[in-house]
Amino acid sequence: MSFGVYFHIPYCFSRCRYCDFYAAGAARAVPDAYVDALLRALAGFAAALPGPPDTVYLGGGTPSLLTPAQAARLISAAAPRPGAEVTLEANPETVTLERLQGYRAAGVNRLSIGVQSARDSQLRALGRPHTARQAAAAFEMARQAGFDNVSGDIMLALPRYSREEFDETLALIQEGGAAHISAYLLKIEPGSAFGRQPPAGLPDADQAAGFYLYAVERLAAAGYRQYEISSFARPGREGRHNRIYWDCGDYLGLGPAAHSCLGGKRFYYPADTAAFVAGTARPAPDGGCGAEDYLILQLRLASGLDLAEYRRRGGPDFTPRQRAFLAHCQQAGYLTLTPQRLTLTPLGMIVQNAILEELI
Ligand code: SF4
Repeated sequence: MSFGVYFHIPYCFSRCRYCDFYAAGAARAVPDAYVDALLRALAGFAAALPGPPDTVYLGGGTPSLLTPAQAARLISAAAPRPGAEVTLEANPETVTLERLQGYRAAGVNRLSIGVQSARDSQLRALGRPHTARQAAAAFEMARQAGFDNVSGDIMLALPRYSREEFDETLALIQEGGAAHISAYLLKIEPGSAFGRQPPAGLPDADQAAGFYLYAVERLAAAGYRQYEISSFARPGREGRHNRIYWDCGDYLGLGPAAHSCLGGKRFYYPADTAAFVAGTARPAPDGGCGAEDYLILQLRLASGLDLAEYRRRGGPDFTPRQRAFLAHCQQAGYLTLTPQRLTLTPLGMIVQNAILEELI
């Protein structure tokens, strides 16, 4: 089973209006004291780790606010095994060729670029501090810096959304040479600016579902195979780090609000950057990882749930009522059920929560 290390970088230029992720506030750089705190926390887990990581992920927040030297310190301390996937999330407004070359030299071999939309008016409405031109330039610089494994993020069902906006965004990312695309439906989070004051022109649930299915179809036509609800990749370019989460593997998440699971036990750091830097933040237990978690996470995947493995992990047989429900869903095109696997179709992925409610 693979093992991954996640470093959370809770700093951003400014707050995007849809975002409720934990971030420490507006910043143009990551304090060295924060990197020192991550390194101390990592060292504290040395004896508990299953071995060198197969993946290292610098996520945020805006990890591309790290200097290459800071990224190098983190990656070198994590000591990934040869051939490991080392990903850094980059926001277009922070990217320069020199910086990307520095990340490459530091050991980063995969970039995830937050594009979201190819329309500047939309980016402004979302509170994104970059333009579409900066996003296109980020892909170009990534190529010049030698990255051949680059992912782009697209948000779907944005205010006043249209298929044309999706097509333009896909074209920007595809022309940028992305091997992987993450496509998410906009969710209005109560703790975000949009949650406090919803924007005009939001698609309703049916329209949002339509945009999602359109995206799945267009991405497949462009050669990006869906392997998870929001994840699409060219063959062999599926992200390895998130796969560890979905397979209930071992991962260590460091930083405020970062979650971990080691040896089936979950824990997380409190969302308090000052306490993390001061070294007073203690990870809090968050229960175990059982068969139910495995079912929930595996049903995110296009490969679906291996029923024998689910039972091996203590999952109960489906009741007659659940079997009838699944047969009904299968007839309606939401899933396929064989003696070996339960798999949601893209249509089923949209209503995944309703299906899970019946199964759990
Ligand atoms: S969406 Fe990303 S860049 Fe924007 S505020 Fe949230 S974490 Fe920062």
